[in-house]
Amino acid sequence: MLNFSVFHKKESNASSQRILKMNGEAVSLKKGKARVGRIETAHGIIETPCFMPVGTKGTVKGLKKEDIEATGAQIILANTYHMMLQPSAERVQQFGGLHKFMNWNKPILTDSGGFQIMSLSGLCKLTDDAAIFRSHIDGAMHVLTPSRSIEIQHMLGSNITMVLDQCIHNPAAHKVAEAAMYRSTRWAELSKNSYKPRKGYGIFGIVQGGLYEDLRRESAKHLVDMEFDGYAIGGLAVGESQNEMFSVLDYITECLPENKPRYLMGVGTPSDIIGAVERGVDMFDCVMPSRCGRNGRAFTSAGQLNIRNAKYASDCNNLDSECDCYTCMHYTNGYLHHLFKAKEMLGGILLTIHNLHYYNSLMSIIREHIRNW
Ligand SMILES: [Zn+2]
Repeated sequence: MLNFSVFHKKESNASSQRILKMNGEAVSLKKGKARVGRIETAHGIIETPCFMPVGTKGTVKGLKKEDIEATGAQIILANTYHMMLQPSAERVQQFGGLHKFMNWNKPILTDSGGFQIMSLSGLCKLTDDAAIFRSHIDGAMHVLTPSRSIEIQHMLGSNITMVLDQCIHNPAAHKVAEAAMYRSTRWAELSKNSYKPRKGYGIFGIVQGGLYEDLRRESAKHLVDMEFDGYAIGGLAVGESQNEMFSVLDYITECLPENKPRYLMGVGTPSDIIGAVERGVDMFDCVMPSRCGRNGRAFTSAGQLNIRNAKYASDCNNLDSECDCYTCMHYTNGYLHHLFKAKEMLGGILLTIHNLHYYNSLMSIIREHIRNW
């Protein structure tokens, strides 16, 4: 049961737009179906549209709690698949849940494990009741059922629990996408039935169906009938073009209730996020800002840059003249370049701080524009 209040000025012109300066270019944010909202959780408020930094194994790599908070993050995402294998949900529960275990007092969303079972593990068998797979760590056999996924997320203490779903590779034939969508629908029902509702916590259904409109619409209809606290759009950002992704969003957000949050899983670039916000999406997560940061790539208002490039060795500027993050306040590009060349861990930490700050600032600017439309 998550309280979600949403604000969408329908009376103003949907085709009006605002100009954002992004990656060195002027980018328009069209009003379209963009909306702002507030999700009330037991660990605080989430203002939407929001970006969720990814803390796969119970850590946003390299960052302390204070660092994560200073980037403007309101909620982080942790991965059920990784936590169940190491250190195990039971171990995390022994320490009072994931919030206490990792010293993070704000909201946490956990995915269900469906995506990693497809992408990381040695998947052995899918039945109508369970996914049977081998751990990518030690090869041990595991069985994940919808109710076990929900139980694990409960033990972790997740504020937003995701149903177990079957993810498929892209492109997929219609009949493959259809079978996965029906299985995901059944798993969503089993997940919901084993979930214990409580105030400040919620469970989201996940719309599947590949790039097929008939399947997506049917998936959404079944999930809406089940009455979830929010609805995710899964199975995108898996290799399709941005236009293909946007064309799914064009119709799918209208199939979902106005008064519930909508979450586009695993997306994306700043441009993906802006296009999805215009189409009525409220929540996003992606490894891009943190993973790029660890690899020396920075998102800045003047465009993306690679700090390893030789031209930064003697550069006395900061990463982004328009950024007031900790990294940009204290370190020159010359120093950051040196850290990466010397393979010092601080380099990846400082760029992760900047990139997450960049993403969260972008979301804050987007919210401000929508509020003032
Ligand atoms: Zn910065």
